[in-house]
Amino acid sequence: MKALMQDWSMTLDKILDHAARWHGDREVITRSVEGPIVRAAYADIHAGAKQVSHGLLEAGVKPGDRVATLGWNSNRHLAVWYGTIGIGAVLHSLNPRLFPEQLVYIVNHAGDEMLFADPFCAPLLEEILPQCPTVRRVIFLSDLAHTPNTSFPSESYEPWVAGRPIDAAWGGFDENSAAGLCYTSGTTGNPKGVLYGHRSNYLHTMMSLQPDALNLSARDTVLLIVPMYHANAWGVMYSAPMVGAKLVLPGQKMDGASLHELIETEGVTYSAGVPTNWQMLLAHLKETRGKLTTLQRVTVGGAALPESIILTLRDDYGVDVIQGWGMTETSPLGTVSVPSSKVAKLSIDEQIVYKLKQGRLLCNLDLKLVDDEDRRLPHDGTTFGRLMIKGPTVASGYYGDRHGDALDDEGFFDTGDVSTIDADGYMQITDRAKDVIKSGGEWISSIDVENFAMGHRKAALCAVIGVTHPKWDERPILLVQLKPGQAAEGHEFLDFLDGKIPKWWMPDDVVFVDEIPLGPTGKIDKKLLRQRLTGYSLPFDAAVTR
Ligand code: AMP
Repeated sequence: MKALMQDWSMTLDKILDHAARWHGDREVITRSVEGPIVRAAYADIHAGAKQVSHGLLEAGVKPGDRVATLGWNSNRHLAVWYGTIGIGAVLHSLNPRLFPEQLVYIVNHAGDEMLFADPFCAPLLEEILPQCPTVRRVIFLSDLAHTPNTSFPSESYEPWVAGRPIDAAWGGFDENSAAGLCYTSGTTGNPKGVLYGHRSNYLHTMMSLQPDALNLSARDTVLLIVPMYHANAWGVMYSAPMVGAKLVLPGQKMDGASLHELIETEGVTYSAGVPTNWQMLLAHLKETRGKLTTLQRVTVGGAALPESIILTLRDDYGVDVIQGWGMTETSPLGTVSVPSSKVAKLSIDEQIVYKLKQGRLLCNLDLKLVDDEDRRLPHDGTTFGRLMIKGPTVASGYYGDRHGDALDDEGFFDTGDVSTIDADGYMQITDRAKDVIKSGGEWISSIDVENFAMGHRKAALCAVIGVTHPKWDERPILLVQLKPGQAAEGHEFLDFLDGKIPKWWMPDDVVFVDEIPLGPTGKIDKKLLRQRLTGYSLPFDAAVTR
């Protein structure tokens, strides 16, 4: 029997319609490319997005066509985002930190037709556009005065939208239509396109807004540090307007001082970002003796969360840190580490061990652990296995991939992460499958060792990688980037780790490096680290520590 409820297709344009109508004066703040902080409201963003839609329709953009953006988080970027998806075209957010050859590959693979870019991208575009024949129009996200002169035809956003009507029709298409395209960073092989749908993003928004997830409300002021081009911006471009939270967009300035200024002047209560963002902010606060007077909680994800960030934000600044795990292919939120009813009864210090885990599953999703033969493994908190995930917000395949879907026989997607799940449902990542260190047939968690080492007061950044060993196949070594002005001996780090990790996980060597390289999404680039260590051999008596 068919239900007798109204047909209400879950298309994402309805989210901004709602924000404009019911939270119309809630502000969207941007540190603009021109310099000053610009203030708008959801009603203005809605009107701007409608003007973008009008311009796109006039330019011949049709449903399903790809419209690319290349830039930082800003109100213009937000208007282009909704202006594109509102008419059923696909918003393809490009990462300006990628190498030119990666961008060329991605733009061609996606077949992008129009491109909106921040002015600072002009030199990059000069390099890549001659190799991107599908791009027929480029519009710089600035006013006329700040639009760069280019050798290719380009336009300026402000005059391009000015005077356009604000009545372009939105929606009216199938909720399963594609809305967004985001390529994964692709540390192995070519980048792969994850194609989000209106329905999948709508569901992700409602799942991520729950109290035991991001827990946003109309009372929040949200600083979105996560770039709009990375992993669907953690869904915040949808969740903040859906509840009418004030949105603060930092533009290109993501250093500790600039973020701190925005947090304090705009009264930010909530923020989301990767661990390196918080490390930079904390270093700035320490140096300037700065305070966080309004910030209440932050979600940290994208890479393992060092304990030192949780403790410093909690004890010195009164900010609650909540870890989230996900990936581009999962829209991205999959698990969040909030206290279960059982964990909530523990003391705040006893709860830390759970905050360090990646957390419990959001509703609507399913997780399992499997071994190398795809057999299910127990959720006992100690057995490591490949983490598999299933649900309506998880990719079923990649854009334009001729090899079909990426799922196992039970419909689960292989995350490429290796993890444990305990009896209370807390998932803990121990490694990326490709970064796993196998010593004498047993897995060593590089992430655990890194997290503990990061607690050393002299460490700026730590990474653990496996190196070949004649007897044990592989042994871990610890690479350390020291804080400016610090000097240390390797044994200081080994002494510090002693007692915190199993003896046979103890790194066989500590190598101090000037810089631990970060990839385009702010994660440690272990591939590059391994390349830099080509020719390295373990110290002679290394195996004695085992
Ligand atoms: P991306 O698609 O670029 O966002 O990368 C997703 C990957 O980042 C995941 O598969 C994990 O390996 C890693 N990741 C995300 N969140 C966390 C987290 N909280 N702790 C450890 N690794 C994480």
